[in-house]
Amino acid sequence: MNLAPYACDPALSRGRRFPEAAAPTRSDFQRDRDRIVHSTAFRRLVYKTQVFLNHEGDLFRTRLTHSLEVAQLGRSIARALHINEDLVEAIALAHDLGHTPFGHAGQDALNNCLKAHNPQSAGFEHNLQSLRVVDSLEERYPEYNGLNLTFETREGILKHCSRRNALRIEAREPGGVAHRFLPPAEAAGSLRLQPSLEAQLANLADEIAYNAHDIDDGVRSGLLQLEQLEEVELFSCYRRETSLAHPLLRGRRLLFETIRRMLSAQVYDVIDATTRVIARRGAANVDAVRQGPPLICFSADMATQSAALKQFLLKNLYRHPKVSETTESAKQVVRELFAAYMADPLQMPQAHTDRFDGVDMTHSAGVRPERVVADYIAGMTDRFASKEHGRLVGRAAFPA
Ligand code: MG
Repeated sequence: MNLAPYACDPALSRGRRFPEAAAPTRSDFQRDRDRIVHSTAFRRLVYKTQVFLNHEGDLFRTRLTHSLEVAQLGRSIARALHINEDLVEAIALAHDLGHTPFGHAGQDALNNCLKAHNPQSAGFEHNLQSLRVVDSLEERYPEYNGLNLTFETREGILKHCSRRNALRIEAREPGGVAHRFLPPAEAAGSLRLQPSLEAQLANLADEIAYNAHDIDDGVRSGLLQLEQLEEVELFSCYRRETSLAHPLLRGRRLLFETIRRMLSAQVYDVIDATTRVIARRGAANVDAVRQGPPLICFSADMATQSAALKQFLLKNLYRHPKVSETTESAKQVVRELFAAYMADPLQMPQAHTDRFDGVDMTHSAGVRPERVVADYIAGMTDRFASKEHGRLVGRAAFPA
């Protein structure tokens, strides 16, 4: 790998929480990626909702295929920018590990359950939960809980964090992954510290991936029409370009070729815009990257177009009455599961109730029951959550 001076070099990693000897043939970031791929939480992504519930169709994206697409886009761009592909891939594959079943609906419901149960609760946030999964919930290794990933991968996973949660993390890990969310008082008004370029890239690749695949899934589901998409400049300009090059193309192939061109244009745009910004501002090393403004970016024009596409999807797909309908049922499933386990914790497997009194590595005291219940529910796939709900509540949440 031909790394630029501003790339993360595994030899200069800030290391793992529990020191380990280097692997003979793999870099520390490759090893992080491999640990993520072998984790239980990663396998569960295959049955977790992205936008469409898992039972609605076999061809829609799930969190797993979404994460693979993010990793692919991230690697392509990383290679062109001479930053660390392995690190981008590790972050991309782990970024959604903390998602609840049923997508954002599940997260919102779980957050409300925790806050209603205890107003002092930190609530539920999938980003923080992804970090919890890799830091403490995976139980695979003899010496520690979690996957013991490097600082750089963990930093990338914690994409955002409330001040309150950042203070909690900072208390047990001073100067660690949450530090950049706590600017010193005297620095008020100054820029918040940035994560590595690899983390910035995984974040933007996430956005590029879902904007594109949600068009595909939206059309496949029948909730979006090709004609409607004409109002989105980013789509319509490549639709026209495709039709000029292939006048007879119709239907799915027209859609795929348009999305392919749109994706390529965004990838090249990020590479060009970022290269220009780095040349202008300079970025001598990773520390300089962390101290400066964000560097991974679209050009101004592409940023506007991408935001317009996002708005279109929000209005026409994510808030489509058909999607909202399943969202309400999904929230109810999560609420009723939470209530059922809180009322009778022994309905959970013993490995989970054992944690009530145990000391997990992200907590100094025993884990509160509502957090154990939230961790258990968050780990469920869509179909397991539906099945458990049926068992505990005695009625089907979704029409067959
Ligand atoms: Mg994502």
